[in-house]
Amino acid sequence: MAGASVAWQLAPDASVAVVEMEDQPGYHTTGRSAAIYTETYGPPTMRLLTSLSREFLENPPGGFCDRPLLSRRGILTFTTEAREEKLDKLLAAFHSVSGIRKVDRAEIKALVPLLRDEAAFAGMLEENARDIDVHALHRGFLRGLRRHGGTLHTGARVERIDRTGALWTLHTADRVLTAPIVVNAAGAWADLIAAKAGAAKVGIVPKRRTVVIVPAPPDRKISAWPAIGDLDDTFYLKPETGRFLLSPADETPSAPCDAQPEELDVATCIDRVEKAFDMDVRRIENSWAGLRSFVADGAPVCGFDPQLEGFFWLAGQGGYGIQSAPALSRLAASLISGCGISPDIGDGGLTLEEVSPMRFAPGATAQTD
Ligand SMILES: Cc1cc2nc3c(=O)[nH]c(=O)nc-3n(C[C@H](O)[C@H](O)[C@H](O)COP(=O)(O)OP(=O)(O)OC[C@H]3O[C@@H](n4cnc5c(N)ncnc54)[C@H](O)[C@@H]3O)c2cc1C
Repeated sequence: MAGASVAWQLAPDASVAVVEMEDQPGYHTTGRSAAIYTETYGPPTMRLLTSLSREFLENPPGGFCDRPLLSRRGILTFTTEAREEKLDKLLAAFHSVSGIRKVDRAEIKALVPLLRDEAAFAGMLEENARDIDVHALHRGFLRGLRRHGGTLHTGARVERIDRTGALWTLHTADRVLTAPIVVNAAGAWADLIAAKAGAAKVGIVPKRRTVVIVPAPPDRKISAWPAIGDLDDTFYLKPETGRFLLSPADETPSAPCDAQPEELDVATCIDRVEKAFDMDVRRIENSWAGLRSFVADGAPVCGFDPQLEGFFWLAGQGGYGIQSAPALSRLAASLISGCGISPDIGDGGLTLEEVSPMRFAPGATAQTD
Protein backbone atom coordinates (compact mmCIF):
# COMPACT_ATOMS: atom_id res chain seq x y z
CA MET A 1 0.00 0.00 0.00
CA ALA A 2 2.85 2.38 0.82
CA GLY A 3 4.66 1.86 -2.48
CA ALA A 4 1.50 1.86 -4.62
CA SER A 5 0.04 4.98 -2.98
CA VAL A 6 3.17 7.17 -3.24
CA ALA A 7 3.80 5.95 -6.79
CA TRP A 8 0.24 7.00 -7.70
CA GLN A 9 0.81 10.43 -6.17
CA LEU A 10 4.07 10.97 -8.09
CA ALA A 11 3.19 9.40 -11.45
CA PRO A 12 1.48 12.43 -13.10
CA ASP A 13 4.72 14.47 -12.81
CA ALA A 14 7.52 11.91 -12.71
CA SER A 15 8.73 8.66 -14.22
CA VAL A 16 7.90 6.06 -11.56
CA ALA A 17 8.55 2.32 -11.24
CA VAL A 18 7.27 0.14 -8.37
CA VAL A 19 9.54 -2.84 -7.70
CA GLU A 20 7.89 -5.77 -5.88
CA MET A 21 9.63 -9.05 -5.04
CA GLU A 22 6.43 -11.13 -5.00
CA ASP A 23 4.50 -12.14 -8.11
CA GLN A 24 1.41 -10.54 -6.64
CA PRO A 25 1.39 -6.99 -5.25
CA GLY A 26 -0.19 -6.80 -1.77
CA TYR A 27 0.89 -10.36 -0.92
CA HIS A 28 2.37 -9.34 2.45
CA THR A 29 0.89 -7.01 5.10
CA THR A 30 -1.37 -5.05 2.74
CA GLY A 31 -3.32 -8.15 1.76
CA ARG A 32 -3.67 -9.38 5.36
CA SER A 33 -5.28 -6.48 7.22
CA ALA A 34 -8.56 -6.28 9.10
CA ALA A 35 -9.65 -3.52 6.69
CA ILE A 36 -10.93 -1.10 9.32
CA TYR A 37 -10.97 2.70 9.24
CA THR A 38 -11.00 4.25 12.73
CA GLU A 39 -10.01 7.70 13.94
CA THR A 40 -9.41 6.56 17.52
CA TYR A 41 -6.57 4.11 16.96
CA GLY A 42 -2.83 4.67 17.07
CA PRO A 43 -0.52 7.56 17.98
CA PRO A 44 -1.57 11.19 17.28
CA THR A 45 0.38 11.41 13.98
CA MET A 46 -1.42 8.37 12.62
CA ARG A 47 -4.81 9.53 13.87
CA LEU A 48 -4.29 12.86 12.10
CA LEU A 49 -3.14 11.22 8.84
CA THR A 50 -6.12 8.86 9.08
CA SER A 51 -8.67 11.64 9.52
CA LEU A 52 -7.03 13.58 6.65
CA SER A 53 -7.46 10.47 4.48
CA ARG A 54 -11.20 10.27 5.01
CA GLU A 55 -12.15 12.76 2.27
CA PHE A 56 -10.16 10.76 -0.32
CA LEU A 57 -11.62 7.46 0.85
CA GLU A 58 -15.17 8.84 0.77
CA ASN A 59 -14.78 10.71 -2.52
CA PRO A 60 -11.93 9.20 -4.52
CA PRO A 61 -10.99 10.96 -7.77
CA GLY A 62 -13.10 10.09 -10.84
CA GLY A 63 -12.13 6.77 -12.44
CA PHE A 64 -10.11 5.66 -9.38
CA CYS A 65 -12.37 2.70 -8.57
CA ASP A 66 -15.74 1.30 -9.56
CA ARG A 67 -17.18 0.76 -6.07
CA PRO A 68 -17.17 2.66 -2.76
CA LEU A 69 -13.95 2.39 -0.74
CA LEU A 70 -15.73 2.77 2.61
CA SER A 71 -18.85 1.13 3.96
CA ARG A 72 -20.75 1.52 7.23
CA ARG A 73 -19.44 -0.43 10.20
CA GLY A 74 -18.86 1.38 13.51
CA ILE A 75 -16.64 0.15 16.33
CA LEU A 76 -17.72 -0.76 19.84
CA THR A 77 -15.05 -0.81 22.55
CA PHE A 78 -16.56 -2.45 25.63
CA THR A 79 -15.54 -3.07 29.21
CA THR A 80 -16.69 -4.34 32.58
CA GLU A 81 -18.09 -2.22 35.41
CA ALA A 82 -14.75 -2.33 37.22
CA ARG A 83 -12.98 -0.72 34.24
CA GLU A 84 -15.54 2.03 33.57
CA GLU A 85 -13.17 4.77 34.77
CA LYS A 86 -10.61 3.83 32.12
CA LEU A 87 -13.37 3.86 29.51
CA ASP A 88 -14.41 7.36 30.59
CA LYS A 89 -10.82 8.56 30.19
CA LEU A 90 -10.79 7.16 26.66
CA LEU A 91 -14.08 8.86 25.86
CA ALA A 92 -12.70 12.15 27.19
CA ALA A 93 -9.54 11.78 25.09
CA PHE A 94 -11.62 11.30 21.94
CA HIS A 95 -14.42 13.75 22.67
CA SER A 96 -13.57 15.77 19.53
CA VAL A 97 -13.81 12.78 17.17
CA SER A 98 -17.16 12.90 15.38
CA GLY A 99 -19.64 10.10 16.05
CA ILE A 100 -18.19 9.06 19.42
CA ARG A 101 -20.54 8.34 22.32
CA LYS A 102 -20.86 6.26 25.43
CA VAL A 103 -23.26 3.31 25.38
CA ASP A 104 -24.71 1.42 28.33
CA ARG A 105 -25.37 -2.27 28.80
CA ALA A 106 -28.89 -2.08 27.33
CA GLU A 107 -27.69 -0.42 24.14
CA ILE A 108 -24.78 -2.86 23.85
CA LYS A 109 -27.25 -5.75 24.18
CA ALA A 110 -29.37 -4.28 21.39
CA LEU A 111 -26.34 -3.76 19.14
CA VAL A 112 -24.55 -7.04 19.84
CA PRO A 113 -26.94 -9.53 21.47
CA LEU A 114 -24.28 -12.23 21.88
CA LEU A 115 -21.93 -10.16 24.05
CA ARG A 116 -22.16 -11.47 27.61
CA ASP A 117 -23.69 -9.12 30.23
CA GLU A 118 -20.83 -9.63 32.67
CA ALA A 119 -18.23 -8.73 30.01
CA ALA A 120 -19.90 -5.59 28.72
CA PHE A 121 -21.12 -3.06 31.26
CA ALA A 122 -20.44 0.02 29.14
CA GLY A 123 -18.73 0.94 25.93
CA MET A 124 -17.49 3.57 23.51
CA LEU A 125 -19.23 3.52 20.13
CA GLU A 126 -17.40 5.12 17.20
CA GLU A 127 -20.28 5.36 14.77
CA ASN A 128 -18.22 6.80 11.92
CA ALA A 129 -15.71 3.94 11.80
CA ARG A 130 -15.87 2.15 8.47
CA ASP A 131 -14.88 -1.00 6.59
CA ILE A 132 -12.29 -0.28 3.89
CA ASP A 133 -12.25 -2.09 0.56
CA VAL A 134 -8.47 -2.60 0.70
CA HIS A 135 -8.30 -4.41 -2.62
CA ALA A 136 -10.15 -1.63 -4.47
CA LEU A 137 -7.93 1.04 -2.87
CA HIS A 138 -4.70 -0.78 -3.70
CA ARG A 139 -5.85 -1.61 -7.23
CA GLY A 140 -6.97 2.00 -7.72
CA PHE A 141 -3.47 3.26 -6.91
CA LEU A 142 -1.78 0.73 -9.20
CA ARG A 143 -4.23 1.29 -12.07
CA GLY A 144 -3.74 5.07 -11.82
CA LEU A 145 0.03 4.57 -11.78
CA ARG A 146 -0.13 2.65 -15.08
CA ARG A 147 -2.51 5.19 -16.60
CA HIS A 148 0.16 7.86 -16.04
CA GLY A 149 2.86 5.75 -17.67
CA GLY A 150 4.30 4.30 -14.45
CA THR A 151 5.35 0.66 -14.29
CA LEU A 152 4.95 -2.19 -11.81
CA HIS A 153 7.71 -4.82 -11.78
CA THR A 154 6.56 -7.96 -9.94
CA GLY A 155 8.70 -11.00 -9.18
CA ALA A 156 11.56 -8.48 -8.88
CA ARG A 157 13.43 -8.77 -5.59
CA VAL A 158 15.87 -5.88 -5.12
CA GLU A 159 19.17 -7.57 -4.37
CA ARG A 160 21.68 -4.73 -4.66
CA ILE A 161 21.46 -0.94 -4.55
CA ASP A 162 24.40 1.17 -5.76
CA ARG A 163 24.91 4.89 -6.06
CA THR A 164 26.90 6.30 -8.95
CA GLY A 165 27.11 10.08 -9.20
CA ALA A 166 23.57 11.45 -8.82
CA LEU A 167 21.85 8.14 -9.61
CA TRP A 168 20.76 5.05 -7.74
CA THR A 169 20.89 1.69 -9.50
CA LEU A 170 18.65 -1.15 -8.30
CA HIS A 171 19.59 -4.68 -9.28
CA THR A 172 17.12 -7.57 -9.33
CA ALA A 173 17.89 -11.05 -10.71
CA ASP A 174 17.00 -10.00 -14.24
CA ARG A 175 16.52 -6.23 -14.21
CA VAL A 176 18.52 -3.06 -13.62
CA LEU A 177 16.66 0.18 -12.82
CA THR A 178 18.22 3.62 -12.50
CA ALA A 179 16.74 6.69 -10.80
CA PRO A 180 17.79 9.81 -8.89
CA ILE A 181 15.36 8.97 -6.05
CA VAL A 182 14.60 5.64 -4.38
CA VAL A 183 11.59 5.34 -2.04
CA ASN A 184 12.04 2.67 0.58
CA ALA A 185 8.48 1.39 1.06
CA ALA A 186 9.49 -2.18 1.92
CA GLY A 187 7.32 -2.61 5.05
CA ALA A 188 8.88 -5.20 7.38
CA TRP A 189 11.97 -5.28 5.13
CA ALA A 190 12.62 -1.50 5.19
CA ASP A 191 15.76 -1.72 7.36
CA LEU A 192 17.14 -4.48 5.11
CA ILE A 193 16.59 -2.34 2.01
CA ALA A 194 18.29 0.57 3.80
CA ALA A 195 21.30 -1.63 4.56
CA LYS A 196 21.59 -2.54 0.87
CA ALA A 197 21.77 1.18 0.03
CA GLY A 198 24.25 1.88 2.83
CA ALA A 199 21.77 3.80 5.03
CA ALA A 200 21.62 3.44 8.83
CA LYS A 201 18.66 1.47 10.19
CA VAL A 202 15.70 3.24 11.84
CA GLY A 203 14.89 0.21 14.03
CA ILE A 204 11.87 -1.30 12.27
CA VAL A 205 10.27 -4.01 14.42
CA PRO A 206 7.79 -6.21 12.53
CA LYS A 207 5.13 -7.59 14.90
CA ARG A 208 3.02 -10.59 13.97
CA ARG A 209 -0.76 -10.28 14.20
CA THR A 210 -3.12 -13.22 13.72
CA VAL A 211 -6.52 -13.34 12.05
CA VAL A 212 -9.00 -16.22 12.34
CA ILE A 213 -12.15 -16.55 10.21
CA VAL A 214 -15.04 -18.54 11.70
CA PRO A 215 -18.66 -19.06 10.60
CA ALA A 216 -21.23 -16.84 12.33
CA PRO A 217 -24.16 -18.52 14.11
CA PRO A 218 -26.70 -19.13 11.29
CA ASP A 219 -29.69 -17.69 13.15
CA ARG A 220 -28.06 -14.31 13.79
CA LYS A 221 -28.26 -11.23 11.62
CA ILE A 222 -24.73 -9.94 12.07
CA SER A 223 -24.24 -7.67 9.07
CA ALA A 224 -25.27 -4.55 11.01
CA TRP A 225 -23.05 -5.30 14.01
CA PRO A 226 -20.16 -2.94 14.64
CA ALA A 227 -16.60 -4.26 14.91
CA ILE A 228 -16.11 -5.09 18.59
CA GLY A 229 -13.03 -5.04 20.78
CA ASP A 230 -12.32 -4.98 24.48
CA LEU A 231 -10.92 -1.90 26.20
CA ASP A 232 -7.60 -3.55 26.99
CA ASP A 233 -7.12 -4.52 23.33
CA THR A 234 -6.81 -8.26 23.95
CA PHE A 235 -9.00 -9.26 20.98
CA TYR A 236 -11.39 -7.96 18.35
CA LEU A 237 -14.16 -9.35 16.21
CA LYS A 238 -15.56 -8.00 12.96
CA PRO A 239 -18.57 -9.28 11.02
CA GLU A 240 -17.90 -10.32 7.43
CA THR A 241 -20.58 -11.79 5.15
CA GLY A 242 -21.87 -14.74 7.22
CA ARG A 243 -18.58 -14.96 9.11
CA PHE A 244 -16.60 -13.37 11.88
CA LEU A 245 -13.07 -12.10 11.50
CA LEU A 246 -11.36 -12.53 14.88
CA SER A 247 -7.95 -11.45 16.14
CA PRO A 248 -6.21 -11.89 19.49
CA ALA A 249 -4.57 -8.48 18.85
CA ASP A 250 -1.17 -10.18 19.21
CA GLU A 251 2.02 -8.20 18.69
CA THR A 252 4.83 -10.77 18.63
CA PRO A 253 8.14 -9.40 17.32
CA SER A 254 9.25 -11.28 14.22
CA ALA A 255 11.93 -11.23 11.57
CA PRO A 256 10.64 -10.01 8.19
CA CYS A 257 9.08 -13.10 6.59
CA ASP A 258 5.98 -14.65 5.06
CA ALA A 259 4.19 -14.62 8.44
CA GLN A 260 2.10 -17.64 9.37
CA PRO A 261 -0.40 -18.04 12.24
CA GLU A 262 0.79 -19.95 15.33
CA GLU A 263 -1.59 -22.53 16.82
CA LEU A 264 -1.32 -20.98 20.27
CA ASP A 265 -2.39 -17.52 19.01
CA VAL A 266 -5.37 -19.05 17.20
CA ALA A 267 -6.41 -20.96 20.36
CA THR A 268 -5.95 -17.85 22.55
CA CYS A 269 -8.09 -15.85 20.17
CA ILE A 270 -10.96 -18.34 20.26
CA ASP A 271 -10.76 -18.65 24.04
CA ARG A 272 -11.03 -14.87 24.52
CA VAL A 273 -13.94 -14.59 22.09
CA GLU A 274 -15.85 -17.47 23.72
CA LYS A 275 -15.37 -15.89 27.16
CA ALA A 276 -16.80 -12.56 26.02
CA PHE A 277 -19.51 -13.85 23.66
CA ASP A 278 -22.27 -16.40 24.14
CA MET A 279 -20.91 -18.41 21.23
CA ASP A 280 -19.09 -21.70 20.59
CA VAL A 281 -16.51 -21.68 17.83
CA ARG A 282 -16.80 -25.16 16.29
CA ARG A 283 -14.97 -24.64 13.02
CA ILE A 284 -12.18 -22.44 11.69
CA GLU A 285 -12.64 -21.54 8.03
CA ASN A 286 -9.34 -19.78 7.54
CA SER A 287 -6.52 -18.13 9.44
CA TRP A 288 -3.57 -15.99 8.52
CA ALA A 289 -0.98 -13.68 10.05
CA GLY A 290 0.67 -10.49 8.90
CA LEU A 291 3.45 -8.23 10.10
CA ARG A 292 2.65 -4.76 11.43
CA SER A 293 5.92 -2.82 11.38
CA PHE A 294 6.76 -0.18 13.96
CA VAL A 295 9.63 2.09 14.98
CA ALA A 296 10.14 2.91 18.66
CA ASP A 297 7.82 5.95 18.91
CA GLY A 298 5.01 4.38 16.83
CA ALA A 299 4.90 7.24 14.29
CA PRO A 300 5.60 6.57 10.60
CA VAL A 301 9.00 7.24 9.02
CA CYS A 302 8.54 9.66 6.12
CA GLY A 303 11.37 11.76 4.77
CA PHE A 304 14.76 11.80 3.07
CA ASP A 305 17.54 9.90 4.77
CA PRO A 306 19.82 12.30 6.67
CA GLN A 307 23.01 10.73 5.22
CA LEU A 308 22.11 9.46 1.76
CA GLU A 309 21.00 11.86 -0.93
CA GLY A 310 17.94 10.72 -2.85
CA PHE A 311 17.05 7.89 -0.46
CA PHE A 312 13.51 8.44 0.87
CA TRP A 313 11.86 6.48 3.71
CA LEU A 314 8.16 5.57 3.78
CA ALA A 315 7.90 2.92 6.46
CA GLY A 316 6.73 2.12 10.00
CA GLN A 317 2.97 2.38 9.28
CA GLY A 318 2.19 -0.11 12.06
CA GLY A 319 -1.45 -1.18 12.18
CA TYR A 320 -2.74 1.92 10.38
CA GLY A 321 -1.09 1.88 6.95
CA ILE A 322 -4.28 1.34 4.95
CA GLN A 323 -6.51 3.94 6.58
CA SER A 324 -3.76 6.60 6.51
CA ALA A 325 -2.38 5.83 3.02
CA PRO A 326 -4.04 8.68 1.08
CA ALA A 327 -2.69 11.44 3.38
CA LEU A 328 0.66 9.83 4.21
CA SER A 329 1.43 9.23 0.53
CA ARG A 330 0.41 12.83 -0.26
CA LEU A 331 2.86 14.04 2.40
CA ALA A 332 5.59 11.76 1.04
CA ALA A 333 5.05 12.90 -2.56
CA SER A 334 5.10 16.54 -1.49
CA LEU A 335 8.43 16.07 0.32
CA ILE A 336 9.93 14.07 -2.57
CA SER A 337 8.93 16.84 -5.00
CA GLY A 338 10.61 19.42 -2.76
CA CYS A 339 7.31 21.16 -1.90
CA GLY A 340 7.52 20.68 1.87
CA ILE A 341 4.68 19.72 4.17
CA SER A 342 1.19 20.09 2.68
CA PRO A 343 -0.70 22.98 4.40
CA ASP A 344 -3.63 20.87 5.69
CA ILE A 345 -1.23 18.37 7.27
CA GLY A 346 0.84 21.15 8.87
CA ASP A 347 -2.35 22.93 10.03
CA GLY A 348 -3.44 19.67 11.62
CA GLY A 349 -0.40 19.93 13.89
CA LEU A 350 2.01 17.42 12.33
CA THR A 351 5.64 18.52 12.18
CA LEU A 352 8.25 17.04 9.86
CA GLU A 353 10.48 16.25 12.86
CA GLU A 354 7.83 13.83 14.18
CA VAL A 355 8.02 11.66 11.07
CA SER A 356 11.53 12.31 9.78
CA PRO A 357 14.12 9.49 9.74
CA MET A 358 16.40 12.17 11.20
CA ARG A 359 14.97 11.35 14.65
CA PHE A 360 16.92 8.07 14.58
CA ALA A 361 20.23 9.61 13.54
CA PRO A 362 23.08 9.16 16.04
CA GLY A 363 22.71 11.76 18.80
CA ALA A 364 18.96 12.29 18.22
CA THR A 365 16.70 11.19 21.07
CA ALA A 366 13.72 9.30 19.61
CA GLN A 367 10.94 8.88 22.18
CA THR A 368 9.44 5.47 22.75
CA ASP A 369 5.67 5.10 22.53
C1 LIG B 1 -3.73 -8.56 10.92
C2 LIG B 1 -3.53 -7.13 10.49
C3 LIG B 1 -4.59 -6.24 10.61
C4 LIG B 1 -4.44 -4.92 10.16
N1 LIG B 1 -5.54 -4.12 10.17
C5 LIG B 1 -5.45 -2.87 9.67
C6 LIG B 1 -6.60 -2.06 9.59
O1 LIG B 1 -7.71 -2.48 9.96
N2 LIG B 1 -6.46 -0.80 9.09
C7 LIG B 1 -5.25 -0.31 8.64
O2 LIG B 1 -5.19 0.84 8.21
N3 LIG B 1 -4.15 -1.09 8.71
C8 LIG B 1 -4.22 -2.34 9.20
N4 LIG B 1 -3.11 -3.13 9.25
C9 LIG B 1 -1.80 -2.54 8.88
C10 LIG B 1 -1.63 -2.40 7.39
O3 LIG B 1 -1.98 -3.62 6.76
C11 LIG B 1 -0.15 -2.02 7.11
O4 LIG B 1 0.17 -0.83 7.82
C12 LIG B 1 0.11 -1.79 5.64
O5 LIG B 1 -0.40 -2.84 4.85
C13 LIG B 1 1.60 -1.63 5.40
O6 LIG B 1 1.81 -1.52 4.00
P1 LIG B 1 3.27 -1.56 3.41
O7 LIG B 1 3.12 -1.29 1.96
O8 LIG B 1 4.16 -0.72 4.22
O9 LIG B 1 3.77 -3.06 3.67
P2 LIG B 1 3.63 -4.39 2.75
O10 LIG B 1 2.24 -4.56 2.27
O11 LIG B 1 4.22 -5.52 3.51
O12 LIG B 1 4.52 -4.02 1.49
C14 LIG B 1 5.92 -4.06 1.52
C15 LIG B 1 6.34 -4.71 0.22
O13 LIG B 1 7.77 -4.65 0.07
C16 LIG B 1 8.12 -5.77 -0.70
N5 LIG B 1 9.57 -6.01 -0.56
C17 LIG B 1 10.27 -6.26 0.56
N6 LIG B 1 11.58 -6.45 0.28
C18 LIG B 1 11.71 -6.32 -1.06
C19 LIG B 1 12.80 -6.41 -1.97
N7 LIG B 1 14.05 -6.69 -1.56
N8 LIG B 1 12.57 -6.22 -3.29
C20 LIG B 1 11.31 -5.93 -3.75
N9 LIG B 1 10.23 -5.85 -2.93
C21 LIG B 1 10.43 -6.03 -1.62
C22 LIG B 1 7.30 -6.90 -0.07
O14 LIG B 1 7.19 -8.02 -0.93
C23 LIG B 1 5.97 -6.20 0.19
O15 LIG B 1 5.01 -6.43 -0.83
C24 LIG B 1 -3.20 -4.46 9.66
C25 LIG B 1 -2.14 -5.35 9.56
C26 LIG B 1 -2.29 -6.68 9.96
C27 LIG B 1 -1.16 -7.64 9.79
